[in-house]
Formats: sequence, structure tokens, C-alpha cells
Amino acid sequence: MLYIGSHVSYKKDTQLLGSLNEALSYGSNAFMFYTGAPQNTLRDKINDMLTIEALTKMKENNMLLENVIVHAPYIVNLANNKELEKYEFAQNFLRQEIERCMLLGIKYIVLHPGSSVGIDEKVALNNIIKGLNNILLKEDNICILLESMAGKGTELGKNIDELKYIIDNIELKDKVGVCLDTCHLNDSGIDLNEFDKYLDEFDEKIGIDKIHCIHINDSKNILGSHKDRHENIGLGTIGFDTLINVIYNPRLDNIPKILETPYVDKEYAPYKYEIEMIRNKKFNPNLYHDIINNK
Ligand code: FE
Ligand code: FE
Ligand code: ZN
Repeated sequence: MLYIGSHVSYKKDTQLLGSLNEALSYGSNAFMFYTGAPQNTLRDKINDMLTIEALTKMKENNMLLENVIVHAPYIVNLANNKELEKYEFAQNFLRQEIERCMLLGIKYIVLHPGSSVGIDEKVALNNIIKGLNNILLKEDNICILLESMAGKGTELGKNIDELKYIIDNIELKDKVGVCLDTCHLNDSGIDLNEFDKYLDEFDEKIGIDKIHCIHINDSKNILGSHKDRHENIGLGTIGFDTLINVIYNPRLDNIPKILETPYVDKEYAPYKYEIEMIRNKKFNPNLYHDIINNK
């Protein structure tokens, strides 16, 4: 079964219910959101009434909770401990994010593993491991999904071996998994035309059963560019047919696929149109025009 959706907004006054409504308006059966602004760590209290209303509406619309994903803010960096205060803050924030997700009934939290910024990569990887081991508790019904990164700057998690090293050293193994991102894979040097070869290696080293979410994005940059700039589906260097092959790869059936493509002219959400193309497996050459004119 294809579970496809997008990143959606999360607003203080409507919370999960507002995010669900936005997702449904795009024809999604999966979605992802930040529990506040992605670039800061200010978070509002979860409103239980809104959560109950949202969970009821999800049931009515066959939106399965395992296809609802939270993305941790990208400024949280578990890799660097040069400033101990920041390293501890990152752990405290993530712990609170886990609590918030459990209140919402959400199991999967996508996390950028972190950036080493000036310290040894191995030390930085060990910081990530230590941080995760500190915050994960046996009774948590949560799974932290380490995102595969493009390798921009000093990002970690840019290849299978780094992801494997982190996962191998987590004590509560059922509480960690992976989120693949097609733009990041391309930019990190993985040719998605040979995606099955990548999956073979992933399966051998980590296990495909650890993949619980896939971000579907085209890329503005060429293979191996280490840039990380997302492009609308079919309009980037990966291309429509290659992305369709990833989305419909039978080895990844039932795993939620989430679009994080850019708004058109910074104003118009492309998701309804991109989801339609993906369901039809047919590229719409008038994509921008249709999005802007709401056709
Ligand atoms: Fe991400
Ligand atoms: Fe992503
Ligand atoms: Zn990205």
C-alpha cells in the first residue's frame, strides 16, 4: 500500500488537528510536522482536547498513526559537546520532544544525527550515541529515526556506515531506526538509478526493517554535490521516473513517503499536485502553472 503525504504546518491554536486537516486537504494518507518552528526550540503545551479531536478524525479518515511523523528541529545537535550547556540542552529538548510525541500518540521522530563542527568525527559520532542513550527510556513507545544526510558542511549520517555505527551502539535498539531522504542520498553520492544496490548494502549492514520513513524530494544539485537543496518532484536532477521507482519499490511498501519539496514562489504549497502525480505515476508538465492557479 502506498502511504504518501507531505510536511505540513503545526500551529499553536490548532496543533495536531490543524496539521491533520492540512494533510487531508492534499489527499494525503501520511504526514509530518515540527511541533513548533523548525529553527527554534520554543514549544507550546499539548492541548489534550485538540489531540482527542485529531485522533478521532484520523480514525474516520483511515489516517494511521504510524504514518504520522514528527521532525525534531534541525538546530538540535547531539554531535558536538564543545559547549557542554548546548549539548545538554539538545538532550533535554529531545527528551521533551519524546514526551510531547507520546502525548500525541506519535511513535516516529525524525532526527538529523548532528554535525561535528570542528571536532573529530568519531568523537562526534560517540557524542550522538551517548546523547541518545542518555535520553531513551525502556518504557518509551518511541522510535528515533536517524535521517540519511547529504554531507553538507560537517553533517554526520552521510553514509550507511555512519548510521550503522550509531545504531549498533544504541542500548535500546528497538527505539532507533532510519529515515531515508532521496535528495540527501543523491547529494551524498548515491545514484538512485541503482537504488536496489543501495538497499542491498543497507539490508546487509543495518537491515531494511530499520527504515520507517522516506523523504521524497528531487534535488537542485548534482549527484555527490553535498549541498542539500530540495526541488519539486520531477524538476530536479533525480527526475520523475527515478523517484517513482523509489516510491513504488516493493521492498519499501507500506513505509510512509513524505514530501519536503519547496513551496512555489514561496507561497503555493505543491503537495496536492505532487501527490496526484505520484498516485497517477505520470508527470504533469504544467505543474507550476497548476499549482499557482490552483487548478
Ligand atoms: Fe530532515
Ligand atoms: Fe528530509
Ligand atoms: Zn534536506
